[in-house]
Parts: sequence; structure tokens; C-alpha cells
Amino acid sequence: MIAQAAKELGTKIIVFSASSVGGVIAPRVAVKLNAGILSDTNALPKIENGQIVLNKSVFSGKANATFTLTGEFNVISVRPNTVKPAEIGAPVPVETLNLSAQDTDFRAIAEAILKTSDKVSLTEADIVVSGGRGLKGPENFYLVEELAEVLGAAVGASRAVVDAGWRPHSQQVGQTGKTVSPTMYIAIGISGAIQHLAGMGTSKVIVAINKDPEAPIFKVADYGIVGDAFEVVPALTKAIKAYKQKIG
Ligand SMILES: Cc1cc2nc3c(=O)[nH]c(=O)nc-3n(C[C@H](O)[C@H](O)[C@H](O)COP(=O)(O)OP(=O)(O)OC[C@H]3O[C@@H](n4cnc5c(N)ncnc54)[C@H](O)[C@@H]3O)c2cc1C
Repeated sequence: MIAQAAKELGTKIIVFSASSVGGVIAPRVAVKLNAGILSDTNALPKIENGQIVLNKSVFSGKANATFTLTGEFNVISVRPNTVKPAEIGAPVPVETLNLSAQDTDFRAIAEAILKTSDKVSLTEADIVVSGGRGLKGPENFYLVEELAEVLGAAVGASRAVVDAGWRPHSQQVGQTGKTVSPTMYIAIGISGAIQHLAGMGTSKVIVAINKDPEAPIFKVADYGIVGDAFEVVPALTKAIKAYKQKIG
């Protein structure tokens, strides 16, 4: 129906969120429209010299490429939290379209949706708390888990701790792990290697807790706490718990 609407309205650019839902729908719409697709961008397209261009970071954030969108239709998916919401302006007109779906449009039908766990999904979470080698051992990850729990956050990890077998690969954030772009990313005992930043650098607010003031993570952090995670994290968890109790 989105593809039908785009054809009917002559929509040149169709924008999706680079979420799991957007990731499933955007390529299907692109196929139906015979359109090119630019996925996982961190900007919206703009007009330059009469052409529609879009910047996208490539090679794990090491370079920036500019793409020109020349298709009749162009599908893009934008990472959450990378584009500032527009100021509220005049309401846009709402048009009603008559669209129809055929049985053949539903090639795969979900017969049952089973909830596998109550934990927050890492790639969809609004807050992610990740731990790294600074936690010294798997037995200390309870610090990350407790903080994540009071915040309703998902737990992530650096590759160093995944390679060491402290955490499962499904929790790895970075170039060879998951890409996340939450509203808040808290990195605990993570140095901030470029490969880690590739997976979380577009988060809206980055908080770093590290005992080394020179750690590269502080270059990208909006808030930094220079200190020992074993002291800072329990104090933070306690303070958030107390605050939550206070506000009910
Ligand atoms: C091809 C390739 C792909 C890679 N992909 C990924 C990837 O997907 N994700 C990823 O994360 N990495 C990836 N890496 C690895 C990356 O280069 C780093 O080695 C890794 O991110 C380091 O993990 P870390 O920050 O946990 O450990 P470290 O670099 O060892 O950092 C530990 C940090 O903890 C701090 N610390 C120590 N004790 C404390 C304490 N008590 N309190 C507070 N802070 C403390 C230290 O100051 C230090 O900054 C990749 C590397 C390569 C070559």
C-alpha cells in the first residue's frame, strides 16, 4: 500500500526509520517501486544545485560519502535519533487514498507471535547500558545489569568482553556486532575504539564512565564520569532508584 500511495502521489522520496520494522518494509517497497535504496543513513536528503543528495557515513564511520538520488522513486532508511525533529509548524494537509491489498501481497503470514523474553531488545531499546573490559570479569556484569534494570534499558557489551566469553555475541555493539542508536548510551569501562564507536556513535546522548580521563570514549561523550566503575555505577543505580521512588 505504501508503494501504491507513492505511485499515486508521485512521491520521489520515501523515508523509513532504520528500525527492525523499517528494515523489513523499506526493501520491499523499493522492490515494488523498482527504486534504489539507501539504508541506515544518518541524515535526510537535501537539495544541492537542483539535485537531491544524501550524505551517509561508510566504512564504519571512517568516511563520508555523498549520494545523488536520481531515481523516479528513492527509498531511504534513517537511523533513529540522528535527525532533529522539525519545529511544530502549520498542520500538513491529510489526503485520503483508496488503496487495496490483494491476497498475493501477503506471501508470508505470521500465524503466531511468541515472546521469547521480557528483556528489552538491544537494537530497539531507548536506553542501552554497555560494559567493557574495565569491569574486570563476567562476575561483575551485575553492575551493568542492575543499572540497565532501573533504567528499563538493554544490556550491550564491547567485543573485548564478548571475545573473552563474558557476554554472548548477541550483546556485542560495534562494527562486527549490533548497530544501536538509542536516546541514551551508557558506556562503562569501554575505551571507545573506532570499531565500537561504529556501532553506537549516532546515539543521541552518550554517557561514559571510565577511570582513564584520556580514554577516547570521552571524545564522543556528552557526559563523562572519570572514576572507578565499581564505585560510580552502584552509586548511580542507587541514586536513580531513589529518584524513581521519589517521583513514584
Ligand atoms: C576488525 C575489528 C572489528 C572489531 N569490532 C568490534 C566491535 O564490533 N565492537 C567492539 O566493541 N570492538 C570491536 N573491535 C575491538 C576494538 O578494537 C577494541 O579492542 C574493543 O572495543 C575494546 O574493548 P573495551 O573497550 O571493552 O576494552 P579496552 O580497550 O581494554 O578498554 C577498557 C577500558 O576500561 C577502562 N577501565 C579499566 N578499569 C576500569 C574501572 N575500574 N572503572 C572504569 N573504567 C575502567 C580503561 O581505562 C579502558 O578505557 C574490533 C576490532 C577489529 C580489529
